[in-house]
Formats: sequence, C-alpha cells, structure tokens
Amino acid sequence: MKEYKLFIDGKFTGSKDGKSEYAVNPFDGKEMAKFSVASREDVDVAASSARKAFDSGLWSELPAAERAEFIKKIGDRINEKAPELVGLEVLNSGSTIKKAKEDIFLSARAFNIFSKLALQENECELKEISKAGFAKNFLRYEPVGVVGAIIPWNFPLKMAAWKLGPALAAGCTVVLKPSELTPVTAMELAKIIEEAGLPPGVVNIIPGYGPEAGEYLVKHPGVSMIAFTGSTAVGKKIMQVAANDFKRLTLECGGKSANIVLDDADMNIAIDGSIYGMFYHSGQCCEAATRLFVHEKIYGDFVAALVEKTGKLKIGNPMDPATDIGPLISKKQKEKVLGYIESGKRDGFKIALGGGVPSSAELSKGNFVAPTIFIDVDNRSKIAQEEIFGPVLVVNKFKTDGDAVSLANDVIYGLAAGVWSKDIERARKVADKLKAGTVWINEWHLLNERVPFGGYKQSGIGREFGRTGVEEYMEIKHIHVDDGVPRVKRNWYDTVVPR
Ligand code: NAD
Repeated sequence: MKEYKLFIDGKFTGSKDGKSEYAVNPFDGKEMAKFSVASREDVDVAASSARKAFDSGLWSELPAAERAEFIKKIGDRINEKAPELVGLEVLNSGSTIKKAKEDIFLSARAFNIFSKLALQENECELKEISKAGFAKNFLRYEPVGVVGAIIPWNFPLKMAAWKLGPALAAGCTVVLKPSELTPVTAMELAKIIEEAGLPPGVVNIIPGYGPEAGEYLVKHPGVSMIAFTGSTAVGKKIMQVAANDFKRLTLECGGKSANIVLDDADMNIAIDGSIYGMFYHSGQCCEAATRLFVHEKIYGDFVAALVEKTGKLKIGNPMDPATDIGPLISKKQKEKVLGYIESGKRDGFKIALGGGVPSSAELSKGNFVAPTIFIDVDNRSKIAQEEIFGPVLVVNKFKTDGDAVSLANDVIYGLAAGVWSKDIERARKVADKLKAGTVWINEWHLLNERVPFGGYKQSGIGREFGRTGVEEYMEIKHIHVDDGVPRVKRNWYDTVVPR
C-alpha cells in the first residue's frame, strides 16, 4: 500500500504527533493508501517555511520566464505520469475512469496555461494620468505573500492545480491543504514539485482535517491570503476566522445551478446536455445542472425522454470505461443525499426515476445512490433550494422566458446556469438576466483556465482563471513619481492646483 508523508520545506516528513489515516476507495470501502495527517504544529512549520521562502525572494523575485519554466515543468510531468495518476484518482475519489482521464489532462493543461500567465507584465505606466513633463504614474502588481489553499474532494488534482497554478504564477508561496478524503494525487503532485526542483518552502502540501489543520491555517499569522474551494457553510466560517486579521480571501463555494430549456431547443441535444450537466461525476460538481426548468409546451415529452435516457446510464465500477455513474465520495455523503431524497418524498414530490440505492449486489459495498429525478418540484422546497451534491435532479416547468429567469434567480447561489435554444439571440437575452458567474448556451461544464470562473451571491467571492484569477493573488500598488523640480509656488493642500 502506498504511504504518503507531509511535504514541508521541500522534504517529506511524518506529522509531529505521528498521526496517520487511511484513504478509502469509495467503490468497495477498502483502504487504498496511508497518509500523515497534519497537526497544528505541522501547519506552523509549513507556514513558516512558506513565509521564509517568500521573504527570501527566491521565488517571488525570480525572473518571470524562469518561474514560468518551473510551472510548465509541473504540467509536463503530470502528463508523463498520467496513467498512474488516473488510476490513483479513480481509486481514491470514486471518479469514473473517463472523468479521471479528463481531470489529469486538465490539471496538466492548467499548469501550462498558468505558466504563460506568469509571463504577463506586472508593471505598467498610466499614460493618460501622467502629466507630460514632470509626473508619471505606474501600476505595479506584487504577489500577496503566503497563500493558504484549502480544497475539496470532488476534483482532487485539478483543484490543487487551480490553486497552485495562479498562486505560483503571481509569485506567491503556498501551503496547500487537500481534503482529508482525497489526499493521494495531491501528494503525488508534491513528488512532482520536488522533482521539478522548486526552491524548498515554495509549495508545502499537508493533508489534514478541516476544523483542525484547515482552521489553523486560516488563523495563522504568517499566512497572507486564503484561497478556498468548498461548501458555502465552511466558506462562511473561513470568512469569520479570516476577519480577525483581515486576510485576503477568495471563496469558490456551492451551487444550485438552473438549467433552462426553451420551447425551441433541439430536444436531443438539450436532453443529452441536461443529463451530462446533472449526472456527470454523480452530481458531485459545484456547477452541476441540478434545477431543470422546461418550457410548459415541451415539458411532458422532454421529461419522458429525459427519464428514459437517464435510466440507461451505467452505474458501476468506476474503473470500467463503460461506467457513467460511480459511487459518492463517502458513506456520510451517501447518507446526506439519501436524506434529501427522503425530504423530497415527505414533501410529496413525484419521483420519476431512482429514489434510493441501486439494487445490484456488486455495488452494495460502495457509496452508490441511483440517479434520481423528482418532477413538478416547487422551487421554494428544500430539495430545490439546497445543494445536495449527489445524483438528484429537480424538474419544474415555466410559461415565459421571464418566468424562467425569475425561477432560476430565486436561490441563494449563483455559480452557473444554462439555456438551451436554437434562437441564440433569445437565449442571450435570458443569459444576460441570470445571476450566475458562468452561463452556458447549448453546453454544460465547459470551463477554461483562460476565462474567469466564480460565483455570484453565496457561491463565492472572487474569480479563478485567466489574468483576473492571477490578480486575485496580487496586491496592486500605485506609484506616483514627480520629478521634484520646483516650478510654481506650491500649495500642498490643493492637489488640483495646476503647476
Ligand atoms: P467542505 O467545505 O466540507 O470542505 C472543503 C475543504 O475545507 C476541505 O479541505 C476541508 O477539510 C476544509 N475545511 C472544512 N472545515 C474547515 C474549517 N472550519 N476551516 C478550514 N477548512 C475547513 O467541502 P467538500 O465537502 O470537501 O466539497 C464539496 C463542496 O465544495 C460543495 O459545496 C461544492 O459545491 C464545493 N465546490 C465548489 C467549487 C467551486 O469552484 N465553486 C468547486 C468544487 C467544489
């Protein structure tokens, strides 16, 4: 069995209190790896190492081209090790092998894209503000400092790449805390970072529990910023703790995305897209298309075909390339999802598909929940409002495009949304009114590390990806330079006096 130690200051080391845990395969409940669990003391050492590395300038002041080379090397090495990483991701996270292949490829791509973003100029002159002859104004972008990055379990390596890529591109140093449920590929990434030769302390990777290692990282005085992806509930706790010393924050949190099918949509494409949007990774995606609104004119036919096609998804061993629906991450998550299904039943909503665990004996040891579709669901009900994070879809109808927008926006989240229509102008009018950070028209799940991604409302604060995402990890400094030559009598109190 593979065994992983904490990665601190460029070295692999056991936790100070000797604590370790097993990572468990969600398909069969078997232990698949052992890992050291970070204590507060370990967080302390990791944060100090990241602080020392930052203050040394060995990374933050390295020429951008050299930093970019290191970042690219990490991506290249992920590609070289892809077959091994794919296998580990399936075993640790329950991701289907189809998805894991995509995830590993996209993790490598993320480092590649962020290596290019590292090359962008971090200083510019504001010529339109500068005063010809005597005053110049400059903007200078500087790395924030030490970043505490905290990530969830649903895309273990990709989430690590989405935090490390922009932070390193900006010139920050990092303490990354992977989820206690899925530390394996993050620890493989630590090996890759060691091989890539980054200076010690630039990246530290320490799996541990949220309320202990996570919260202590948020509190740590040596940490300048927290970059968090996870639930809205934990995001709120982090905001409260980070308020003590005014830490910079980015929060990528939960979602309950509205998926709107207009009456002129291509039925087949919209049905396939809605199934993909909702049931990809068994619904364990922040941007999943969990609330489906279908125009009343096509509602009956659409729902019947949707239910039939969803019923054909193959539930099974995630290692099998034919599997569409794998297990949920944990027993706890399975019980949570089943609890929501019970809540929908209690509220009297009709179940058109699923509604419990699959009957197959082969799946009995895994954390499986059958794809479930509730129809005619009141938009104010618990199952229509709360993030379930499992394969549970709620469906409702609407009359006008305006009604669809009102239903879609009537939720605390605002991460993503989608519109299906052959009339792009009409779909754009709907998209423009949706309160969501990403809106797909005739698509779902397509994200690109070059384009900002993040949430409105309680789905988050800040944006990942693109130059915008890198700037989240930077301070912006304005430098005003006067040539100091006396010209006319100066009135220091009147800044608008022309000189
Ligand atoms: P979670 O909030 O339970 O945990 C996320 C991380 O926070 C884990 O590493 C956990 O150990 C840590 N944590 C828990 N309590 C903490 C505390 N008090 N202080 C500091 N850290 C703490 O989320 P999860 O169950 O791992 O992941 C699922 C959630 O993540 C869903 O809500 C999903 O929508 C969200 N998510 C959001 C995005 C996005 O981009 N918006 C992407 C993926 C997942």
